[in-house]
Amino acid sequence: MRALRLVADRKLELADISPPPPPGEGEVQIRIKAVALTHLDLWGFRGMAFAKRQLPLVVGAEASGEIAEAGKGVTGFKPGDKVVMYGAMTCGRCAACREGRDNLCENVGGIMGFHIDGFARDLINLPARLVITVPAGVSLRDAACAPIAFGTVEHMLFDNAKLKPGETILVHAGGSGIGSVAIKMAKALGCTVITTVGDDTKAEKAKALGADHVINYKTERFEGVTRKLTAKKGVDVVFEHVGGEGFNGSLLCLKRGGRLVTCGSTAGPIVTINLMQLFQQQYKIFGSFGASMRNIRDSLSKIAAGMAPIIDTEVELTEFERGLNRLESRQVFGKVIVNF
Ligand SMILES: [Zn+2]
Repeated sequence: MRALRLVADRKLELADISPPPPPGEGEVQIRIKAVALTHLDLWGFRGMAFAKRQLPLVVGAEASGEIAEAGKGVTGFKPGDKVVMYGAMTCGRCAACREGRDNLCENVGGIMGFHIDGFARDLINLPARLVITVPAGVSLRDAACAPIAFGTVEHMLFDNAKLKPGETILVHAGGSGIGSVAIKMAKALGCTVITTVGDDTKAEKAKALGADHVINYKTERFEGVTRKLTAKKGVDVVFEHVGGEGFNGSLLCLKRGGRLVTCGSTAGPIVTINLMQLFQQQYKIFGSFGASMRNIRDSLSKIAAGMAPIIDTEVELTEFERGLNRLESRQVFGKVIVNF
């Protein structure tokens, strides 16, 4: 069977490897149908000094597929069922896993496609507890965006920032995979959405998604415009995943007692924070990573109810690297999907 493996930094190879054995007790065998690219794929491709991993590594962190075979003792799945898979190998035994909060697993074995072999292959065996049924009417292409793109945003906005109807939110990089989802989820809740983009073409697209105000961060200072738009009060919530030099600008956008939630640092992981500003303004800063099982189920329900992911490009397995280049170039608006 085919498997796309990272063999060195920035070097992928399409290998022919042995298919997995029949699924064991409590496992299912899945035929992968689509992989959605995320920044995890890009970080892994570039090479991460701190990531413990062994090459070659099968890539792909976010995916959908069909059940090929169910192992002994598995109920709830039969061949042909459409499914998505959790993006990390969690233990299933610790208190967090037992509550379905697998992103807080105490014994996590690694992120798929990043620390351990991922989904860019024809077949995979997984514990059935890490597999979630796709509702009727949702395509496998759209479903592939549920475990990370939708799930991460769901966890950030609702579990961590506790976004409420009527609040104002600043969504950074509204054209990114998670940014585009955040705009849709916040608008569906009835929030006022301010978003940033890097060029004017993306500004039009972000408006079409429902954003109330769009700031081109390359031509305007987003913190100044945001304060002006909120009559100097600031926003209730900032949706951060950029970090770097803009992070302090993000804090300046918050109203007193405002919440900042972050899941990424694409512009750099190290920032300096003024602690006096932090405590005097009573900011709440949430680190957020991944999603709970419930977040993924809720995401699939939202997709089924019509909140479709924005798809930038669809490529074949052999064009995986072209998809990564698109992510890296920041030309992308929405998700890049790799079809099998
Ligand atoms: Zn666990």
